[in-house]
Amino acid sequence: MQTETRIQVADIPEEGLFLNFTELSHLIPEVDEFVEIEKTQGRLEIHKSGRDIEISGHVKSRVFLCCDRCLKSFSIQVETPFFYLLQPKADFGADLEPDHQLSNDEIDVYWYEDGEIKGEELFREQILLQLPMRALCSETCKGLCPGCGVDLNETACQCAKEEPQGPFAVLAQLKVS
Ligand SMILES: [Zn+2]
Ligand SMILES: [Zn+2]
Repeated sequence: MQTETRIQVADIPEEGLFLNFTELSHLIPEVDEFVEIEKTQGRLEIHKSGRDIEISGHVKSRVFLCCDRCLKSFSIQVETPFFYLLQPKADFGADLEPDHQLSNDEIDVYWYEDGEIKGEELFREQILLQLPMRALCSETCKGLCPGCGVDLNETACQCAKEEPQGPFAVLAQLKVS
């Protein structure tokens, strides 16, 4: 089992490096202040091409989020393949016309520094990219009552009933009488 996510470029053999991580969660720096992860598995396939490093990988993780509406913790499963092209930092951005084709939008180009690849950062970024824009425990989550704060998924409160009725409600009553 691979437990070290830092890879020395000098250690990558001609035929490439294949790494399997069975539990990565503790190796990945905080994904986000409000996000916890567990049961994170990952794979990296690393090839050297001159000074460039090509990485294809895969990550799978259980992510715990806090619902935007009711504030309860819930979890989702994220899983994605990914591709990176890493270039030495010294070369990065220096040449606007790289000698290789970067037409594929699926490939992210990044730099590496000090001859070291930080695998954990790649996994972290990929997990972040998989998170939903809005964290909802369920599409139909009713959230917390803005009046009394109860979880409207669990309890009905009296606040709505005390709300003043709109003009249309009044009209509807007139019609009936
Ligand atoms: Zn919710
Ligand atoms: Zn209420």
